[in-house]
Amino acid sequence: TTYYGLKNWGGRHFSADDAGFLQVHPLGDHRSIRIHDIVTEAIGKGYKPPLTIRIQDLLRTRVVELNQLFDEAIQDESYGGKYRGVFPIKVNQLREVVEEIRDAGKAFHYGLECGSKPELMIALAMHKDPESLIICNGYKDDEFIRLALFGRKLGKEIYLVVEQLSEVPRIIQISKKLGIKPLIGLRVKLSTMGEGKWASSSGEDAKFGLTSPEIIDATRRIKRAGLTDSLRLVHFHIGSQVPNIQTIKKATVEAARFYCELKKMGFPMELLDVGGGLGIDYDGSRSNYESSMNYTMREYARDVVYNVKTVCADADVEVPDLVTESGRAIVAPHSILVTEVCDRISKKSVPPKKTAASKKQNPVLRDLNAILENEHGSSPLERFHDSQQKREEANNLFNLGYLDLRERAQADAIYWKICEELSNLSKNGSYTPEELESLPAMMADQYVCNFSVFQSLIDHWACDQLFPIAPLQRLNEEPEVDATLVDITCDSEGKVSKFTDVEDVRQTLKLHDLKPKEAYYLGVFLVGAYQDIMGDLHNLFGRVNEVHVFLEDDEEDGFYIEDSIRGFAVSDVLGFTQYDGHILTRRMKKQIDRATKDDEIKPREGTRMLDEYAEFLRGHTYLAT
Ligand code: PLP
Repeated sequence: TTYYGLKNWGGRHFSADDAGFLQVHPLGDHRSIRIHDIVTEAIGKGYKPPLTIRIQDLLRTRVVELNQLFDEAIQDESYGGKYRGVFPIKVNQLREVVEEIRDAGKAFHYGLECGSKPELMIALAMHKDPESLIICNGYKDDEFIRLALFGRKLGKEIYLVVEQLSEVPRIIQISKKLGIKPLIGLRVKLSTMGEGKWASSSGEDAKFGLTSPEIIDATRRIKRAGLTDSLRLVHFHIGSQVPNIQTIKKATVEAARFYCELKKMGFPMELLDVGGGLGIDYDGSRSNYESSMNYTMREYARDVVYNVKTVCADADVEVPDLVTESGRAIVAPHSILVTEVCDRISKKSVPPKKTAASKKQNPVLRDLNAILENEHGSSPLERFHDSQQKREEANNLFNLGYLDLRERAQADAIYWKICEELSNLSKNGSYTPEELESLPAMMADQYVCNFSVFQSLIDHWACDQLFPIAPLQRLNEEPEVDATLVDITCDSEGKVSKFTDVEDVRQTLKLHDLKPKEAYYLGVFLVGAYQDIMGDLHNLFGRVNEVHVFLEDDEEDGFYIEDSIRGFAVSDVLGFTQYDGHILTRRMKKQIDRATKDDEIKPREGTRMLDEYAEFLRGHTYLAT
C-alpha cells in the first residue's frame, strides 16, 4: 500500500484492509466500507463503471468538522464573534450534495453562497434556516438583484456582495423601486496575491473586487442613498486551493484592516467573509506544492480567528462574525470516480524476432542488435544516442523501400528492447543522465480505462491538477507494472501521466498485471469539487453513472445505496448536439428497408439491426465492457 501514498492523502478516511481492498471510513473512525463492495452492488443494480460513488456520510463529516474547528478556535481565542460559514454552490451543485450539506450544517446555521442567477435560484429555494446566511457573489444583472431582494422579503439574511462599482447604483435603484432594504457587502481587491493554480482570482489584475478608491466611491454612494445601514460585510477571495498558510494569514490581515476602516467610517459592519481557498492535500505531502497544503483545517480556522482578532484589537474595533466560503475542502473527499481497466498497450509485448539464418540481415538491423548486446561496451547514454540514430535510419530505409515491413517491425522491436534495458538501468536509482530520465515514462505500459478525462477529470487535463489514484483491490500484492492511464476518447490528451507522490510528481503509476476474467478497478479520489460539473462531452462521452452511499446505522461495516442516477444515454448526448433519436432511427430504417428490398440483407437481419440501433440509443455512452 505504500505505493499509492494512501497513508498520506487518505488521512483518516481511506485505508487498505488486510485482504488488500481499499476502504473508506466516512466518519474518520473504525467504521469502514469496502469500495469494491459498493461497485459490485452498483453493478448488480445495473450501474456499471465508470461510476461516481458519493459517500454521503463523509460529506457530513467534513461540514461538521469545519464548523466545530471554527467554534473551537473561537472558544480558545475567546473571540467575541461567531462563525457563520456558507457552502459555495458552484463547487458542486448536485441537489443531493447541497441537501446533505444543508442538513449536516443545520445545527451550526451553515448557509449557502451563490455566484450566478441559476445558483441563486437554487439557494433561495433550498435555504430553510432563517439564522443562516445566503451570500451572493459574481456579476449581477438587474434580475439577479431583484431575486436577492425577494429573498430579503422572505426574511432571509441575504447579502449582495458588490464585485464591480457599477453594481452599486443598480442595487440602490432597484431596492428603492421595490421598497426593500438590501444587505450589502463589498468585495475588496487585496494587494496580497494568492498562490497556487487559481491565484489569478486575486491581485491587481483580478477581474473581481473593488480597489481602495472604488471602495471609497461605493461607500459615498451608499451613504448618499441613505443605505448606510445596509453595508455590513467585507469579502475577499484569493483563489481556490491556497497551498501556503502564510498567504491566508496575510490576506486575512489585509481584509480585516479594510473591515476596521469601514467600521470607523460609521458603517454598521458585522461580517468578515474570507472566501474560499482552504485546500485539499491531494498528494499528501503536507507541503506548499500546488496540489498540497502546508496546513490543516484546524490551523486554518485558528489563523483566521487569531489574525482578525489581533487586527481588530489593534484598531480598537469590535470583532466581526466570521464567514468562510470553503467549497473544495467540504466536498472533494466525498466523491470517488471508479473506472475499469479494459485493455493494456505495451511496447514490450513484441519480442524482437531473429531473422531466419537463410536471410541476409540488413546492416541496420545488425547494428541495432549490436547496440542491444552492447558489443562495443558503450555507456547507457551513448547506446541511447546510437539506437536513436539507427532507428531513424531504419525508418528512412523503410520509406524508400529498402526495408520490408517485417524488417521494420524487427527494427522497432529491437529499439524498444534497448530502451527498456536503459530504462531499467535508470530505475535502479543510480545517476541518470537527463536524456534518459523520460525513458521509464516512455516505456511504461498504457492501461486503457473506460472513462473520459474531459468528462470526469477536467482539471487534470486543463491545469495539471493531480488526483490520487489507486486500485480498489489487490493492495496486498506488490504491483509490478509501470503504467500510465489513457482514456477511451480519440484524443491523445485524454490521459493521466502525472501522479501524486509525496516527494515529486511521478510520471508512472505502479499497477498490477491484469488477470483474465477479473475486473481491475481503479479509484480516482478527492474528485468531489468542481470536476462533476465542469466536465464536457468530448467524443460525446456523457455523465457517468452515480450511486449515493450511506452507512447502515446498526451494522459495523454495513452500507446501502440510497440513490442511483443513470449516466447520460446515447440519445441524451445526441440531443445536446441537435440530433433526435427518433429521426435517426427513422433514417436508419429507410436505409435498411432499401437494402432489404434490394435483397442485400434478409428482413429478419434488418429488423435485428434496427432493434439494436434503437437499444444502443437508450444505452450508456461508455464501453459496455
Ligand atoms: N468563493 C468564491 C467567491 C469563489 O470564487 C470560490 C471558488 O473559487 C469559492 C468561494 C470556493 O473556493 P474553494 O473551493 O477554494 O473553497
